[in-house]
Amino acid sequence: MKSREEQGRAMSAGEAADADEKVNILLVDDQEENLVAFATILEDLGQNLVKAHSGDEALRLLYKDDFAVILLDVRMPRMDGFETAGYIRARAKSRHIPIIFVTAFDDTLDRISQGYSIGAVDYIMKPVNSDILRSKVKVFVELSQKTKSLEREVRERRRIEEELRATNRELEAFSYSVSHDLRGPLRSISSYGELLIEEFEGKEMPGDTRQYAARVCDNARRMHALIEDLLTFSRMAREKVDCGAQDPALALGEALSQVALGDAELIREASYPTVMANRTLLTQVFVNLLSNALKFVASGVRPKVRIRAENNGERSRMWVEDNGIGIAPEHHERIFRVFERLNPQSGPPGTGIGLAIVQRAVERMGGKCGVESSPGQGSRFWFDLYPPESKRAPGRPL
Ligand code: ADP
Repeated sequence: MKSREEQGRAMSAGEAADADEKVNILLVDDQEENLVAFATILEDLGQNLVKAHSGDEALRLLYKDDFAVILLDVRMPRMDGFETAGYIRARAKSRHIPIIFVTAFDDTLDRISQGYSIGAVDYIMKPVNSDILRSKVKVFVELSQKTKSLEREVRERRRIEEELRATNRELEAFSYSVSHDLRGPLRSISSYGELLIEEFEGKEMPGDTRQYAARVCDNARRMHALIEDLLTFSRMAREKVDCGAQDPALALGEALSQVALGDAELIREASYPTVMANRTLLTQVFVNLLSNALKFVASGVRPKVRIRAENNGERSRMWVEDNGIGIAPEHHERIFRVFERLNPQSGPPGTGIGLAIVQRAVERMGGKCGVESSPGQGSRFWFDLYPPESKRAPGRPL
């Protein structure tokens, strides 16, 4: 990984390369001596100067190469500058190239406005003032170099993004198959552990054997939970998500029947605004947020959980608020990442995947999620979903 400083250096080296990269300038005039004069004036710019002695020749050259700017004489026999410009503008490949018309001082205003209607970017009068010509052309040279550099950057970004997506897909597939394959052997470990304990039910076991067997079963259970969470997380990225108008109260009811409420105080609203969501994912989001709200409470404190909604017409924000231990602001982002747990040793058991599942589920439904919290002040987790009439289309693949 490159340091910031190195990246900065690489960036300026790249920019220097862009500035160094020569662009083509097309000079079109039927008089060789005029072409030589233009070339002499523009030599200092250090770019490739390409000469054309007629409109036809210019069009042929434009067909083959890309140009930063065209210096086009208006008065030429057969095909004059305006006609040539008309053809240049008609072709998709050359349509965007700026044209500077070179025109005699006695050209009428009518002819000048004809040039603008064809799409002249600028005019320069004969006899040509070298400084003015050089600075006008320079502007377009720099513009072209910047555009090229931007295009390169966009292409590079797209390439990196595609690579990242492919790597992510591979990783997801890998973690899915590993987790899937681990299930069988793990089931055997916990089954044999439990058999061992059952076998010696009420009988003497040598040394700490009973404790060891219990630990094996306990760890197998934790690993089972981890694998199930990983599978849920990875399935959520792969599977198609269908969203429809959902009443959050129903998903919440289902979630409450799946978590151990104990003596917790629960405050909920009589109804919640309908949102576009997937019922299974919405239930899972509530289950994970509620279990955390009930889990991360200081000992001796009666858990209090409030589920409320805030609707601003555009989106519906659901809040799951608790009176728990709270989370320092510097951890607010990282807790949504896989395996990030703030107190893995001393805190309550968990897999560290719950909030990553919440985030992925909400994103698959087109929304966002976050938390407001500080230590000792409880936590307020929120997620945004959209009402059915909203233009935001949920359920798109990640
Ligand atoms: P798990 O609950 O399995 O540890 P999560 O991904 O659900 O994993 O949560 C990650 C971490 O975020 C938790 O280990 C905990 O430190 C912190 N956390 C999550 N919810 C709360 C909450 N309501 N109150 C305090 N801390 C929380």
